[in-house]
Amino acid sequence: MVTRFPPEPNGYLHIGHAKSICLNFGIAEDYNGVCNFRFDDTNPSKENIDYVNSIINDVQWLGYAKDGNILHASDYFDQLYKFAVELIKNGKAYVDSLSPDEIREYRGTLTEPGRNSPYRNRSIEENFDLFTRMKNGEFPENTHVLRAKIDMSSGNINMRDPVLYRIKHESHPVAGDKWCIYPLYDFAHSLSDAIEGVTHSLCTMEFEDHRPLYDWCVENVSAPSRPEQTEFSRLSLEYTVLSKRWLTKLVEDELVTGWDDPRMPTLSGLRNRGYTAASILDFCERVGITKNFNAVEMSVLENCIREDLDYSAPRVMAVLDPLPVTIENYPEDEVEWLSAQNHPKRPELGNRKVPFSKRIFVERSDFMEDPPRKFFRLAPGAEVRLRYAYLVTCTEVIRDQDGNVVELRCRYDPESRGGFAPDGRKVRGTIHWVSQGNAVESEVNLYDRLFAVPNPAGSKDTDFADLINPASLKVVNAMIEPQIESATSGTRYQFERSGYFVLASQNGNNGKPVFHRTVTLRDSWAKRN
Ligand code: ATP
Ligand code: MG
Repeated sequence: MVTRFPPEPNGYLHIGHAKSICLNFGIAEDYNGVCNFRFDDTNPSKENIDYVNSIINDVQWLGYAKDGNILHASDYFDQLYKFAVELIKNGKAYVDSLSPDEIREYRGTLTEPGRNSPYRNRSIEENFDLFTRMKNGEFPENTHVLRAKIDMSSGNINMRDPVLYRIKHESHPVAGDKWCIYPLYDFAHSLSDAIEGVTHSLCTMEFEDHRPLYDWCVENVSAPSRPEQTEFSRLSLEYTVLSKRWLTKLVEDELVTGWDDPRMPTLSGLRNRGYTAASILDFCERVGITKNFNAVEMSVLENCIREDLDYSAPRVMAVLDPLPVTIENYPEDEVEWLSAQNHPKRPELGNRKVPFSKRIFVERSDFMEDPPRKFFRLAPGAEVRLRYAYLVTCTEVIRDQDGNVVELRCRYDPESRGGFAPDGRKVRGTIHWVSQGNAVESEVNLYDRLFAVPNPAGSKDTDFADLINPASLKVVNAMIEPQIESATSGTRYQFERSGYFVLASQNGNNGKPVFHRTVTLRDSWAKRN
């Protein structure tokens, strides 16, 4: 069993490509076969080395092609040229000299057959001579093409004498200046598969109509093997776009910071967002392979990373919207180091020490002046548990001139160390906090879905700027417990009660650590719809 993954280096890989990677490399693994990693680099105009490097990096990040064995369709340019000559010699291909517009016009439509080109009946000798001169660079672009001689009245437009080669006076990233004619996709792809001995050429549904041409190519030259094409439906994911055309537009219109912006569905974007390779493999497994179109809900992807990080990420306390609290009866200048579990569900990960002091921060949303009945957090007169620390009761609310709450005063129960009520009284609410004197001020990028609508590409409003979720990025200044100071970039945490975060850098703007929110703890979109 030989499969292949054939990316075109004209953009970064996205989560849809991951589906194809998992399928092709996965099947080869399951059946003791091989999967060839081959760049489909037949169009030098759109390709660049940054794309090539990012693609290699992403495939290897997913755990595949680690042997570094990388193939190129351009490695076969000599052989493909010979196949083209073979078609000419057998009267199965001809050089057409219609302009690109005329070729389009002669092609017909879905309801009308095409017409034969006036050049269709050139002799084999003339075709061979013209094709040789095309290759030798004697003609400008768009003056001649090589076409397969199949059937201009075919019901399948792909079979109406498709173009096999065109002139392009451009140098190629791998082949250099050797060629000024380049093969088109259907010809290059099918015959590259045949040259490599690919047995199963798995591609997405939009190539179903190309299958007769795929077969025609391998059947009409002396191909060394007979690969077979099978189609599956492409991944489509809600609240984002998965086509390089649209992703390029987002980058070019500067609606994101680049291909690897953490809101992009690219593998590099997801990695920057904090997604693990394992969570993406898990996602590909869950969505499975079918021939039916269906848009997968974003929550399916989000649940994969939630499950992974729920198990693997150690917990820390971080206050994203800090409200100062002074504990009036706690001694000035004292710092107590309290024991906190790194992972409540995995005692084997041990405990850490968290500093507690007279002045702490709590989350602004954990206080309500006039709370509804089931609000069990801080409110005037209410008692709450500070996680791993003490029970505190709010005694006073301090406001500024405009009436905004700027500080809370509390009293703590010195007998409640660890958060246990000495008399067994019931305290329902538990909130997180950090000590003001010990907290590490950090920049936290709160990422959310890039688009506000489930199907942006299908929207009538094609101006993406109008469809972007205005809350897709919110930057906050957070206060985090000192545990994070020794972490290296890429370390992932659960910030208790808020979500999963990855350390992007210890040294971002103003020397502060920078965190990216990977995903919230719960699906906040579920209730909105
Ligand atoms: P795009 O539409 O994003 O430009 P593409 O198909 O042109 O994608 P390629 O680089 O040619 O991109 O794709 C390499 C392989 O990945 C192909 O075999 C293609 O079928 C597959 N692939 C691309 N997008 C998806 C997707 N959304 N779901 C599954 N497979 C995909
Ligand atoms: Mg393509």
